[in-house]
Amino acid sequence: MKVAFIDLTAQHNSIKPEIDQAVNSVLSSGSFIGGEAVKTFEKDFSDLSGVTECVGLGNATDGLFLALKALGIGKGDEVITPAWSWISSAEVITLVGATPVFADVDPELFSITPKEIKSKLTANTKAVIVVHLYGQMVEVGPIKELCDRKNIYLIEDCSQAHLSEDNGINAGSIGDCGVFSFYPTKNLGAYGDAGAVVTNNIEFATKLRRLANHGGLNKDEHLFEGTNSRLDTLQAAILNVKLRHLAMWTKKRIVNAQLYKDNLKNVKSISLPIVRQNTVHTFHLFVIRAQQRDKLKSFLEVNGVDTLIHYPLALPFEPAYGYLNHSEVDFPISASLQKSVLSLPVHPELSEMQIYYVCNLIRTFYGE
Ligand SMILES: *Cc1c(COP(=O)(O)O)cnc(C)c1O
Repeated sequence: MKVAFIDLTAQHNSIKPEIDQAVNSVLSSGSFIGGEAVKTFEKDFSDLSGVTECVGLGNATDGLFLALKALGIGKGDEVITPAWSWISSAEVITLVGATPVFADVDPELFSITPKEIKSKLTANTKAVIVVHLYGQMVEVGPIKELCDRKNIYLIEDCSQAHLSEDNGINAGSIGDCGVFSFYPTKNLGAYGDAGAVVTNNIEFATKLRRLANHGGLNKDEHLFEGTNSRLDTLQAAILNVKLRHLAMWTKKRIVNAQLYKDNLKNVKSISLPIVRQNTVHTFHLFVIRAQQRDKLKSFLEVNGVDTLIHYPLALPFEPAYGYLNHSEVDFPISASLQKSVLSLPVHPELSEMQIYYVCNLIRTFYGE
C-alpha cells in the first residue's frame, strides 16, 4: 500500500468546482492585486481568529519580519526564540538587526516553556517569539503574563496552528500579534506562497500594512520605506474557498491522530504526542519519538509509507548559526529530539485503512 505524506491533488479534486469558479472570477476581473477577495479573506480570517485586524501578506516569514519592524525592534535588542522550530522564527530577528537568543524546549510538548524563557531574559530582551509547533499551542497564558510583567512583546508564530486553542484562547489572539503561513502544505494552504498577521491593535496593523506596501495604504504614498509583500488576489480567492472546509479538514486530522494513538499506545519503543488539557491540538504534524528512528523511517519507506523529520537539526546546530558556537549541551532537549522525532502522515485525505497499515508496520518493525 502507498501512503503519501500529504496529498494536495486529492484535496484539490475534492473542491475543484469551487476553486475553478473562484479562480475564473479573478481571472476575468483583470484585477490581481488587492480587491474584494483579499478584503473578504482578511475579514473572515480575523473573525475566525477572534481578533479585529488581519493583514494579508506574501508569506509568514515576511509577517514575522515586518511584525518585528513594526514593533521597532532592531540593533542592540535581543529576541528569545525556540531552538526547536523552522528557521523563519529565528532568521527574521537577524534580518531586523537584532540578536536571536535561543531557548530549549519541553521534551514532550516540543515548545518553549515560561521557565526556559525566564532563564534567557536580559535587560536587552525586547520580545519573545513563541511557535505553536505541530498544531499545539505553547502555554500561552503564563507566557503572556511573564511578557507583560517584563514589558516585552509577544509574537505568536501560528504557521502550524490554524484553529488551535489553549483554554479557549485562539492561536494568534493573545500576543501582540499572531503570524500565519498559508504555504501549500500548511493546514490552510494556498496554491503558492501566502501569509497573514492577526492582531487587536489597529495602529500596529496599519503600520504593518504600510510596511508591506512601500510605506503606503494608497498608490504613490510613502510615509516611510517598506517592501512589497502583499497577499495575492488569486491566493486570497483560493483561501476563501478553502476556509469553508478548514474546520472539517481539521476534525479529520484530529480523528486520524486519535486512530494512531489508539493503535500505537502499547508500543514501548515509541512515544506518542502529548496533548495538554484544555487545548485543541490541530495536528499539523503527528510527531512521534522513536527508538532506531532512521531504521524505522527506512522500513516504512520500503513499505510505501512516506515520513518526514521535523527537524533534522535544531536551529543552533545549523551552519547558519555556527557563528554562535553552540554545542549540544546548550540545548540538550533539542539535541535529543533531532535524533528521535519522526512525522507520520496525518493529512485529512488519509483512509482508516492506511492508518492501520502504518500502525501495523510500526508494530512489526519493533516486534511488539
Ligand atoms: C511554515 C512556517 C513558517 C514560514 O512560513 P512561510 O509562509 O513559508 O514563510 C514559519 N514558521 C513556522 C513554524 C512554519 O512552520
